[in-house]
Amino acid sequence: TFTVAVVGRPNVGKSTLFNRLAGKRLALVDDTPGVTRDRREADGKLFDLTFRLVDTAGLEEADHASLASRMREQSQRAVEEADVVLFMLDARAGITPSDELFADELRKSDRPVIVLTNKCEGSAGEAGFYEAYELGLGEPVAFSGEHGHGIDELYDRLHAIHEAWREAHDAEDVEADSEEAGQDVVQLAVVGRPNVGKSTLINRLLGEDRLLTGPEAGLTRDAIRVDWHHKGQPMRLVDTAGQRRRARVQDKLEQLAVQDALHAINFAHVVALVADATEGLDRQDLHIAQSVIEEGRALVVVVNKIDAVADADAALRAVRDRLKTSLPQVRGVPVVSLSGLTGRNVETLLDAVLRAYKIWTTKVATPDLNQWLSEVTASHPPPRGRYGKRIRFKYITQPKARPPTFTLFCSQPTEVPGSYTRYLENELRHDFDLPGTPIRFIYKRPK
Ligand code: GDP
Repeated sequence: TFTVAVVGRPNVGKSTLFNRLAGKRLALVDDTPGVTRDRREADGKLFDLTFRLVDTAGLEEADHASLASRMREQSQRAVEEADVVLFMLDARAGITPSDELFADELRKSDRPVIVLTNKCEGSAGEAGFYEAYELGLGEPVAFSGEHGHGIDELYDRLHAIHEAWREAHDAEDVEADSEEAGQDVVQLAVVGRPNVGKSTLINRLLGEDRLLTGPEAGLTRDAIRVDWHHKGQPMRLVDTAGQRRRARVQDKLEQLAVQDALHAINFAHVVALVADATEGLDRQDLHIAQSVIEEGRALVVVVNKIDAVADADAALRAVRDRLKTSLPQVRGVPVVSLSGLTGRNVETLLDAVLRAYKIWTTKVATPDLNQWLSEVTASHPPPRGRYGKRIRFKYITQPKARPPTFTLFCSQPTEVPGSYTRYLENELRHDFDLPGTPIRFIYKRPK
């Protein structure tokens, strides 16, 4: 579960925030008799985000002699458990030595931190808000628990961190799934608008009428599964045609196809997006392609029905161009043209799927990555971040594949502009031969 910790010295207003975020079922922990309750835990919710919420409530009652050490210990524990830390300050009181104590701990942890300068209503908190920048924990959020200021911005920040967290965990889940299965089964989803020829293509690929004669399972909510081998590689086809066939209203079909596709993506490693050569890629196709990349799956685009166009090369080029302008962040998405009906070129599809899968599972050795990092940051230095200080990159690791996910440790993780990320991504793609696959970057402060 995504865990949010609220930390800060006593009386800054943590409880008001905690109660605001906490749902009804409030669980108390560390409730041993004789021991001061140090921690509260609850199911938290902010708009559509749900999470586990922990704070260090008991510290409010602690006496001052033991406060510093207890605070350190408790905040450390809460922070260790947290996927994001809400660090609350009292903007009216300014930054106190206790605040700095917390800030030190938080800088040492590699957790994302959102600094909330509370009691910012009116102008009395302005000085404290600007002081909070100096803690080196990123841009503070001007907040007022009592007046409800800053909740939207808190949501935006939480949402972004939650997205990154979810992506990282999705990748782990897929990895765990296939390890459980004992071998790597490439899970392939074939998606696209109605009548682009998906069923025909699948039947051709499998060399038999499996889907059409297939089990009535196709009519249930469950995805159909078909297993086979290609060049010794076990593959599994994940298809959601069943859901599509349930549609009765014709004009809903298109919309439904997109929903189907989005659903299938969840089960797939590689998604083959089929388009009709006589029509090219439309907005919905691009929407699906975009989602495949966002969900961190490998994408192969199929230009089907090339038997039906006079100039197959032109159709292929048109699709490539469209992808280049509409998905500029993933250069080199593989595009294959074929005819499911005549069988022409069909064998190239599974090769492309296998290649996309291999790229998607790539792991680059850490020394190579770091050699690369020092070269690319030397030839095109990172921009300046806060206070005009240049962002410094320290090192890089690849914690995961599927999709290739890189953690870049740098001095100002929240300040790296999109343009620099794109530069790094393009270089990485080029230098380590990772065309067409989604790449994730996570910026962190060095431990
Ligand atoms: P699906 O809805 O995407 O599964 O599409 P189907 O496989 O049911 O095919 C829709 C229509 O396109 C059918 O009439 C097919 O015969 C036709 N079709 C499928 N593949 C091709 C192809 O490669 N070339 C041509 N010319 N027609 C095709």
